[in-house]
Amino acid sequence: MRYLIAGNWKMNGSLASARTLAQGLADRRELTAKADIALCPPAPLLPAIAAAVAGSAVAFGGQDCHAAEKGAHTGDISAWLLKDLGCSFVIVGHSERRADHFETDAIVKAKASAALKAGLTPIVCVGETEAEREGGKTSAVISRQMAGSLPEASTAANTVIAYEPVWAIGTGKTATTDDIAAVHAQVRDLFAAARGNAGALRILYGGSVKGANAASILATAGVNGALVGGASLDLEDFARIILACP
Ligand code: PEP
Repeated sequence: MRYLIAGNWKMNGSLASARTLAQGLADRRELTAKADIALCPPAPLLPAIAAAVAGSAVAFGGQDCHAAEKGAHTGDISAWLLKDLGCSFVIVGHSERRADHFETDAIVKAKASAALKAGLTPIVCVGETEAEREGGKTSAVISRQMAGSLPEASTAANTVIAYEPVWAIGTGKTATTDDIAAVHAQVRDLFAAARGNAGALRILYGGSVKGANAASILATAGVNGALVGGASLDLEDFARIILACP
């Protein structure tokens, strides 16, 4: 299975930085030889990214989509428009969307379902808060999010899961490799129980992944790639993460 390293730029970047970073990745063929790469910039930068990576294997995607195909939803973006712009992926259920936009599991599921219908691969995010981990609720939270956020049409081939402990996102803290392995095993078991087959399911880890810690995280059992926030804005650090794939 090829590793997937996806960069979530969040609300960062500019036209100039998008061009430089995407072009820099596309120019370095040793990076796309090593892993599948996807850039998820703010939506207005998608056409610039598409132009910069044209002819390379660097893919790109949205950070969110609406559940509907079109309509009166000011400020939202449909999965079908993302597909039209050349996207392959869309992140859904990121903890910042769940927290800032009150997205429930049911909303995340509807968005993931729209992504699949539009022909995109949803990267469905799950993960516990610090209070939930300290309260011994990690496993229950992951079970609830997996059961509630995945559309019936999800298969190991058309969906990616990202395990992102909320307390590790943007904080510099990372889960231990034992904790990562345990949650990834749980995610794979839950997916297999619900969908029959999870051998080929890509499960990414996310939460303060950077060049300096990528090798041990990416070598952890059950980890098939990373969803990278801050470090994906720095070409050299992002490249170090990609090159750390086993
Ligand atoms: C993320 O945004 O999904 C993320 C993991 O961010 P960071 O790598 O900055 O913790």
